[in-house]
Amino acid sequence: MDMKLNYIAGQWQESSNAMANINPSDTSDIIGQYAHADKNQTEQAIKAARQAFSNWSKTGIQQRSELLDRIGQIILDRRQALGELLSREEGKTLPEGIGEATRAGQIFKFFAGEVLHMTGDLLPSTRPGLEVSITRDPIGVVGLITPWNFPIAIPAWKIAPALAYGNCVVFKPAELVPGSAHALAEIIVEAGIPEGVFNLVMGTGSEVGATIVDHPDIDAISFTGSVNTGKRIATNSISRMAKFQLEMGGKNPLIILDDADLDIAVDCAIQGAFFSTGQRCTASSRLIVTKGIHNRFVDAVEEKLSTLVIDHALKSGTHIGPVVDQRQLDQDIKYIDIGQSEGAKLVCGGELVKRDTNGFYLTPALFTDTSNDMRINREEIFGPVASVIAVDNYEQALQVANDTEFGLSAGIVTTSLKYASDFKRNIEAGMAMVNVPTAGVDYHVPFGGRKGSSYGSREQGQYAREFYTTVKTAYTLA
Ligand code: NAD
Repeated sequence: MDMKLNYIAGQWQESSNAMANINPSDTSDIIGQYAHADKNQTEQAIKAARQAFSNWSKTGIQQRSELLDRIGQIILDRRQALGELLSREEGKTLPEGIGEATRAGQIFKFFAGEVLHMTGDLLPSTRPGLEVSITRDPIGVVGLITPWNFPIAIPAWKIAPALAYGNCVVFKPAELVPGSAHALAEIIVEAGIPEGVFNLVMGTGSEVGATIVDHPDIDAISFTGSVNTGKRIATNSISRMAKFQLEMGGKNPLIILDDADLDIAVDCAIQGAFFSTGQRCTASSRLIVTKGIHNRFVDAVEEKLSTLVIDHALKSGTHIGPVVDQRQLDQDIKYIDIGQSEGAKLVCGGELVKRDTNGFYLTPALFTDTSNDMRINREEIFGPVASVIAVDNYEQALQVANDTEFGLSAGIVTTSLKYASDFKRNIEAGMAMVNVPTAGVDYHVPFGGRKGSSYGSREQGQYAREFYTTVKTAYTLA
């Protein structure tokens, strides 16, 4: 089987090591062998990016806009094939995979337009005769480190603004999902990226990731992944004064009030907690339900879950694909055991099931009789596992929702304008959802969280420029 190569300094480069990319729906299906870069190759990529920066940062916005638009268009033209590859390597269903590929294309198109909207300020000085201007410069070489659960959308929402604002890129995707990253790199090359401006270095976090984070020629690091890795990156970046941005875990609450429309509540809970196999940082893992609707809600969720098809991600009719790998499956099972030993009641799911192909199939697990201090309600599980927490009223629901170290996304299902408005004002989260699932966002507005979920400026939309540029204040004696 041919090895898929890294893209370094304008060349597709071989490595002495490679890793098999395995389909979680069918472990006999090897998608490909993907080269693992070593420290030396990572350093070459960083050097190439540094050398390319001087020219690239001076290219006009027209050229950058056209390049991003071409990348976006090729992605959209190939969304079906990209979606298939994504679903095959990550395990989300084909409609979800195609949807994510489409999103990646839209993001590149958005930043193709956004770069033409760069603004600054020109203002009078407090000193007579002087004029002051405030403009934005690119930051330099950026290291982009991404997780496995959105293999093309997250790379897109980092690479597109990085390039748009004149930075050079060293991109390290997650080890588990190199296929989508490699396909994206091929498109970026095909669209005509100049040598050294964009580099793909697939490989391990401990070698490739750590080399990027610690390298003095990396001016800024944008990271999405787990809290533990994020903390390590923060410590190392601070020690050498590099700029960084972290998007990490969640333990997102969805409040269901007595006055909720039951169908909307069930839909939000099922979509938010279990679709994409629950492997979303914005997944609703805590369902906080007032007592008047509690039993009806639990019965309806259980009934709906029993109709969902858990099977091969590429099979038509599948609602929920497999868990991404054995390690994640072990973690999900461990937490299902922890929940039961803590006294939570497993209402349904949490069973390993066999399908025609050998994959990591787990039925969606729903707990009731849980309290917010249980480990299953405090620690991110990152699988198809959700808990119901019964509460007396809205005030208690809000207090429980905010009682977490995380603060990414939070939702409420209610027909009350009063509670919806109060929730939007007082929920301690970066994103607040009313009558829509906690997962599922637009690409033209900021994305990110508070507390332990995020650090640094927001990603996506116009807000992305905060991270990918640095401000210059200039004084001119006219
Ligand atoms: P992870 O932290 O294990 O890995 C993320 C990336 O960091 C990978 O590319 C990995 O190789 C790299 N890495 C690992 N060790 C490193 C090191 N020492 N130095 C530099 N890089 C290193 O996370 P994961 O398991 O791939 O992803 C799941 C996590 O991502 C979950 O916690 C989820 O909540 C989070 N996530 C957050 C968001 C968000 O926007 N908040 C979005 C998606 C996923």
